[in-house]
Amino acid sequence: MVSEVEKKFEFKNKGEYLVSNKLFLDLIFNNKCNCDCRFCIAKTKSYANSNLDRWKESFKKTIDIFKDEIDSLIILGGEATVDPDFFLKLDYMDSVTKNNHIFTILTTNGCLLRNETFLNKVASSTVDSVNISIMNHNLEHNKYLMRGNVLNRDELKKIYEVFHNNGKTVRLNTNVAKNNLCTLEEIEEYINYFKGCCDVIKFTPLMKTDMFNTEDDILTYTHEYAMSKEEIKKLFDSLVYKYGSKNSNSKVFGLINYGELFVNGQHVILKYEQVEDMYDLNRVIPTLKLYPNGNLSNEWDYNKNILDKFI
Ligand code: SF4
Repeated sequence: MVSEVEKKFEFKNKGEYLVSNKLFLDLIFNNKCNCDCRFCIAKTKSYANSNLDRWKESFKKTIDIFKDEIDSLIILGGEATVDPDFFLKLDYMDSVTKNNHIFTILTTNGCLLRNETFLNKVASSTVDSVNISIMNHNLEHNKYLMRGNVLNRDELKKIYEVFHNNGKTVRLNTNVAKNNLCTLEEIEEYINYFKGCCDVIKFTPLMKTDMFNTEDDILTYTHEYAMSKEEIKKLFDSLVYKYGSKNSNSKVFGLINYGELFVNGQHVILKYEQVEDMYDLNRVIPTLKLYPNGNLSNEWDYNKNILDKFI
């Protein structure tokens, strides 16, 4: 499989927009969660009402319009697995994309995957790959950061084995911040602790956010604990320097800088930077987001709907 780092991102004209040829379609199922992470930008003052019929209609239209550009479907929340319509939506996605399957990634905190029936249902669904968020290898510190009944290593390993046996891949996702994995030693400990429990581990900097509608305490938290770009670069570069880089790409989306390496045999991706306000979103579409109310937006704004511009 071509890795995130190896993909070539270009933009092509479509309607009045320049659209990425490797579009990620984010499918935001809901904004509820069974954890309460201190940094969760999905925690908002108000949110879109779910409308399953409209969501289905918009999903089908979106696939019809962008089928040549969509690279992956990324299921997000909140926590998508707690959505009462979770499996209904997976089945619907499968029925729409049946003849032209699109690589589908589920992003989850993994808590509900403890349940064997639930796990097996996901493992036999349209999902190809699962991204599980575990912030820290120390269970107590992870509980402190995620404030939920988070997975321990043994549980993660069992979940990984089931997905692996069903031909699916598992990636661990974590944030690097002033109070989490901010030294080379800590990052190495995390990697070595979870080695054998996943296919790949991705480290992403916690980003200072001022996002529309996000709760004020989350904004304050991200400003307090986000490391500077220089600190992140120094930290990630030290890992690359020590273990050697497999691949790097400063052109993903034209601005995100990724590094890829193996640490003691474990595949690792370092995301140096986040997508920032580099695009005029009235002209350029780097990613699309389908909200639970059926609005299709190219921004983190569930009130915006650009679907009509393409029909
Ligand atoms: S697991 Fe994800 S959605 Fe849930 S609280 Fe944490 S960051 Fe938010």
